[in-house]
Amino acid sequence: MQNINTYIYSRIDTLEEAIKEAWKRKFYQEHWGHKSLDDVINIVRSYKYHTLPVTRKHDLRDNWDNIMCFDGAIDVVSSSGTTGRPVDIPVHKEEENVRVEAIERWLHALGVNTGDKVLILLSMNDLFTLGVLSWQAVKKRNACAIRCSVNRVDRILQIIEHLKPKYVIGNAGPMIRLAEEAGDRWPGHDLLPKKALLGASAVFDQDLNPTPALKKLKELWGFDDYLNTYGSSEIGAVSDECSYHQGLHIHTDHQMIELIDLKNGLPLEDNNQPGELVITGLNLPRGFIPIRYATGDIVAWIKHESCPCGQITPRMGPIIGRVDHQLKISGQTVFPDLLLSLADESTGVMRSAVQVKSEKYGEDEVTLLLVIDDNFNKKEVKNNVISRLDKNLSISPKVNVISSINLLTLEKKASKNTNQVKIPRIFDFRKGI
Ligand SMILES: [Zn+2]
Repeated sequence: MQNINTYIYSRIDTLEEAIKEAWKRKFYQEHWGHKSLDDVINIVRSYKYHTLPVTRKHDLRDNWDNIMCFDGAIDVVSSSGTTGRPVDIPVHKEEENVRVEAIERWLHALGVNTGDKVLILLSMNDLFTLGVLSWQAVKKRNACAIRCSVNRVDRILQIIEHLKPKYVIGNAGPMIRLAEEAGDRWPGHDLLPKKALLGASAVFDQDLNPTPALKKLKELWGFDDYLNTYGSSEIGAVSDECSYHQGLHIHTDHQMIELIDLKNGLPLEDNNQPGELVITGLNLPRGFIPIRYATGDIVAWIKHESCPCGQITPRMGPIIGRVDHQLKISGQTVFPDLLLSLADESTGVMRSAVQVKSEKYGEDEVTLLLVIDDNFNKKEVKNNVISRLDKNLSISPKVNVISSINLLTLEKKASKNTNQVKIPRIFDFRKGI
């Protein structure tokens, strides 16, 4: 297997350029703790790049004036933060071109061509990035963009009936909810878009099997094909799927990627195990230059073997959790996403969420919330979920049945300060988070 370091040092010239630019930002000079740029370059050349400290989102928040550059910026994007000052990222013209091109490649891979109608169900507002990038990319392919908020059920039904879009771009969770809310009015598969581009949706598990969310989405929308992508407002598009669905191909022309150990922060020797995704951006100029930017996303694996599609770029596995969402139950670390997928795979469970409160002694009080289909016996479904948890985890959280209206209230409360692109599934009431 190719070592991740070999992969990093194949791009050393470009990496040095990015570091030289980053050195001009006061934050990095202080953060790296070296006297001169030459010292930092020597570290890179002596194969010790991994000793530069990672930068995290809170660094961006706390040192915003000393890390962002607005000269040449033409847009501002921001991720969906729930606490503290939002981290707003200036995007330069050249950088936006790179971001749009990445989406264009993705549209090309799915077959979007001149004149094709593409329904975009992503937010065009609130500094959200993927919506406006998709809009530009669709037009660059000479296809026809149809923008609609995913919350406008009636309008979307009209669009599907009269304009008949062939493609749709959206997020799995809101798209499932849209079809469910439409109920009997939801059109048959022959009337719906045939192919989908999914933004940062959990569509496959670490063994590359489809997730319950994807199965549900396909059942409701009846796609012939779909492609998934991963990216963030800080970085832009990072990776996307090919039609073989063997993980997400990393855009190595614009990024370098590492996985670091969740416990000690050191680079993982074996990329077949989960680690935190750390990204270095190589394209310049940029409003924010990510140098060893620790995303907080935990990726199941990185594979370096070539893909059946012929591409030789490394592929990353699914995001299996967030560093800041790790829960402590009876001294053990548990990821809420694992609890959610075990619940979602259980028959009779329509929807699920995780609620977290602080307990004493650094432990978390974790409750798995289930919305159960009225056609099923609630007690039986709940017991089935509990036994699945028992089989897969050595410790178990509490499990409560909740009505869909109560879950909706929790979701609305949790997404009040976000751009409402994703449906929240973790309600974190711990202090300080
Ligand atoms: Zn491939």
